Amino acid sequence: MTTIPKVAINIGMEKTRFITENGIILDNQNQVILKVPGLPSHVNFPEETITKLHKLQPGYINRLAHTHPIGMFSISNVDRAMMKKWAIAMHPFPFRLSTLTTDNEYDLVESIYVARLESRECWLERKELEKQSSHRKIEIELEKEIQYYPGTPGHPEWVQEIFDNSFERDNDE
Ligand SMILES: [Zn+2]
Repeated sequence: MTTIPKVAINIGMEKTRFITENGIILDNQNQVILKVPGLPSHVNFPEETITKLHKLQPGYINRLAHTHPIGMFSISNVDRAMMKKWAIAMHPFPFRLSTLTTDNEYDLVESIYVARLESRECWLERKELEKQSSHRKIEIELEKEIQYYPGTPGHPEWVQEIFDNSFERDNDE
């Protein structure tokens, strides 16, 4: 009888484990305004603080970043609903939410999504053209993807922190 040798499969995903989501609010200079520790599958960003900051200085908040389980680069339905709500609240400013995750043990990808409420003029024009009533549209699109390498020189501190707090690696000492 032939025995098939057990081969240890050593793919990156098994060496990096997701523990919990973590959030960070960034200003328009990419500096940290607030760190928001999350739950295993959710981050409760403080609505009151965000509203206050936006009223004080519209455009000051660049984006809300949060970690996601391994391989989940896209936004969830809950994220999408939150983006729509903020796009309305922050109009005419766009609202950005990003996900930070990996599918290996080396890098972390930030996918930045932007939500914009259709302007009143565009909406009225569209209504006229389509000859029917419709709601103002909220468009959500992937704006940018940034790749980070945790543990390398020049790596942003907040990305390192969010990575350390959200993921566990087998090669960690
Ligand atoms: Zn999410």
